[in-house]
Amino acid sequence: MSRSRLFALLLAIALAALALFGRGGGDSGEFRRARVLMGTVVEITLLDGGAASDAEAAMEAAFSAMAEVEASMSAHRDDSEVARLNAAAEPVEVSAATAEVLELGLRVATASGGAFDLTLGRLKALWGFDGDAPRVPSDPEIAAALQGIGPASLRLAGRRVTKGDAALRVDLGAIAKGYAVDRAVAALRAAGIRHASVNAGGDLRLLGDHGGRPWRIGIQHPRDPQGVLVTLELADAAVVTSGDYERFFEVEGVRYHHILDPRDGRPADACQSVTVVAASAAEADALATAAFVLGPEAGRRLVESRGGLALFVAADGEVSLSEDLKDRVRRP
Ligand code: FAD
Ligand code: MG
Repeated sequence: MSRSRLFALLLAIALAALALFGRGGGDSGEFRRARVLMGTVVEITLLDGGAASDAEAAMEAAFSAMAEVEASMSAHRDDSEVARLNAAAEPVEVSAATAEVLELGLRVATASGGAFDLTLGRLKALWGFDGDAPRVPSDPEIAAALQGIGPASLRLAGRRVTKGDAALRVDLGAIAKGYAVDRAVAALRAAGIRHASVNAGGDLRLLGDHGGRPWRIGIQHPRDPQGVLVTLELADAAVVTSGDYERFFEVEGVRYHHILDPRDGRPADACQSVTVVAASAAEADALATAAFVLGPEAGRRLVESRGGLALFVAADGEVSLSEDLKDRVRRP
């Protein structure tokens, strides 16, 4: 069975289990729903959903806000804005939402010295991480896919996007999932919800607190799928993890994963995982990927320079974190 079919099957089982056991709601006041979006299970939990009908309406508004982001920013769909931008040789007018994501992505790209890069679409396709047969490309193939990439190759004027090279392929995989989570939280707030969590495959945003106490968020151990590295106590924050254990394959014992270093076109090798706490999930998403590429020292400086906090598991397994995150950490 191919990886993606196995993934879809596991996803369906997870959803069925959640639908069965996750029907919190009504008397407990907690409502939980899950849906597959952007290739992952998105789970929304409301603590103050009120009447079941109000909670369902709020959930629906949140999921459709996320579906809108997927429809416009997916590199996996032929009819998305990103697909239209990638196919265009001339400048393209995009929606305000896509322009907002591109603008944030270009800011993080510049702040990270290009470690975060929205223009790696060709390189990602070459490695095939999202397909059924990922492979290690040859050096000449990688060199060709790196031609013309970088923050300067994408110019944004308002909602008008100009590619420096017609062959350039934009990829929002490291930022648009976080942005979708932020849009879901905005929809919940608009529906009057004050305490909720939105989790899209490890891109998580917490609205309010958890019954007067912080939410307790377990951070997965990058080398132990069942293990929790630490538990963070947080409220009203986004917490996003990027890791080399999410989309990877191994050849002769070497792990190749989907977080690529634009400097050489190969999987970044300084970290096993990076967790970023920030005000928005889009910012945390982009910073986690950038910091993963930069490594614990430079990565932490970048994250903190943008008002975030970070926890690193370096390539050798060593754990380090921002000073101001230490009092939020509870050992498992
Ligand atoms: P992150 O670390 O947040 O991001 C890693 C991803 O960012 C890589 O997969 C690559 O896309 C990109 N990237 C790699 N290196 C860099 C870098 N240095 N700088 C910037 N970006 C980099 N998956 C499916 O299987 N099917 C789908 O239909 C599907 N649809 C999607 C639609 C949308 C709108 C989005 C945002 C994602 C979708 N995905 C889908 C998932 C996507 O392919 C990625 O696997 C996912 O976004 C990676 O997120 P992450 O948090 O796991 O890793
Ligand atoms: Mg991410």
